[in-house]
Amino acid sequence: MAFTFRGGIHPPMQKELTENCAFLPPVETKELCVSLSQHIGAPAIPVVKEGDEVKKGQLIARAAPAISAPVHSPVSGRVRAIENRLGLFGDLSMHVVIENDFLETEDYLPPLHNPTQQQAIERITQAGIVGMGGAGFPTAAKLNFPVQTLVINAAECEPYLTCDYRLLLERTDEFLRGVDYLKLATGATRALICVENNKTAAIREVEKAGVPLVRFRKQTQGVGTYLVPLKTKYPQGSEKQIIYSATGKEVPEGALPSSLGIAVYNAHTAFSVYEAIELGKPLIERYMTLSGRAAKNPCNLLVKIGTPFALLAERCEASDTRMVVSGGPMMGFCSVSGEVCTKKTSGSLLFFTKEEVADSAAPVGACIGCGRCVSVCPMRLMPVMIDQSARAGNLKDAARYGAQQCMECGSCSYVCPAKRPLMQSIRGTKKKLREEKKRG
Ligand code: SF4
Ligand code: SF4
Repeated sequence: MAFTFRGGIHPPMQKELTENCAFLPPVETKELCVSLSQHIGAPAIPVVKEGDEVKKGQLIARAAPAISAPVHSPVSGRVRAIENRLGLFGDLSMHVVIENDFLETEDYLPPLHNPTQQQAIERITQAGIVGMGGAGFPTAAKLNFPVQTLVINAAECEPYLTCDYRLLLERTDEFLRGVDYLKLATGATRALICVENNKTAAIREVEKAGVPLVRFRKQTQGVGTYLVPLKTKYPQGSEKQIIYSATGKEVPEGALPSSLGIAVYNAHTAFSVYEAIELGKPLIERYMTLSGRAAKNPCNLLVKIGTPFALLAERCEASDTRMVVSGGPMMGFCSVSGEVCTKKTSGSLLFFTKEEVADSAAPVGACIGCGRCVSVCPMRLMPVMIDQSARAGNLKDAARYGAQQCMECGSCSYVCPAKRPLMQSIRGTKKKLREEKKRG
């Protein structure tokens, strides 16, 4: 039995490139550029200045008063500069540039033993934990909403990515302790660990650790921690889809999962919560997948936050790369430069060959009215109608067809036999609708 949602696609998973690669130690670099915008919300505010000596784990920027998260130094060394550096989208944003002294002198928080709920919340806040599945929402801000059910997202439904799978396999106990601390911090009575059913070794390992495998949906209503097998399908790991697959509940349009008493946390976030509480270690490094056919040595490894992409390209021996993507191939973003550095949300870096990107360069044909885009849309939208309305300049109709509900998963573009860039068209339409709303 495996649980699922309606719609979705089955792209070639390409996980075989790295699924058997155990975690490697981090690549060391002389200089790390740590962004002050590691998360959704306001950038963190620096508390160090040029020339300051810093230790590994030391606070270098405090959270801004609005939604924000603090930032810590990933190495010991000296602050060389606080200046604008290139971001993933070619934008400039403030970074703390740290010269590594390679001494790894630590300044962690004191480890907590049997913390209370309040202590766990405070530690998650202090450690700068954010959603590590890509969204980067500060975890502390999410803890403000009381919930009964945690959905732990270990679906890893994007092709190529395997670091969450390896985390469940190699760091099972620590991951499960992190899930327990999240339950403590949120007051939830149950946690549903959701894993796609192609990750059999990870499922076995979590089961071996004493977590029962759910066979009937009714079991997910009990008190405790459960392992929920999900059908292998993209985008199984999207928030609304994973909630539906795990609980059978639909998040109403415009509402938050907390309105149903549910919160979704990424598997790596749970692991980082464990590190913050038991080791006193702030979020300064994370596991990543380096993959793609242009990488001669694809791997999974620990990466210090602020490591330049160029160094990771060297680490996996990428050559003849046609495109570099940060994140998964479906929802990730093309990187503009090797100067860009990793963030707390950087779960993967993919190096694609000409052949791997050939499909996206295929000529666009006219719509043949096959309806495939409609049948795969997990949000039950009609992508073809949104696209046609937008191209005719009729934004009102595009909105009526639900353009704003599109979560930009790319499933419609993927299946379109005419290679129509539906998702890109809808993304542009959403932007225009937002601008129109702003103008009033
Ligand atoms: S319309 Fe949006 S949500 Fe639906 S398949 Fe296309 S990209 Fe995904
Ligand atoms: S999948 Fe492509 S060709 Fe088929 S209806 Fe949708 S837009 Fe038209």
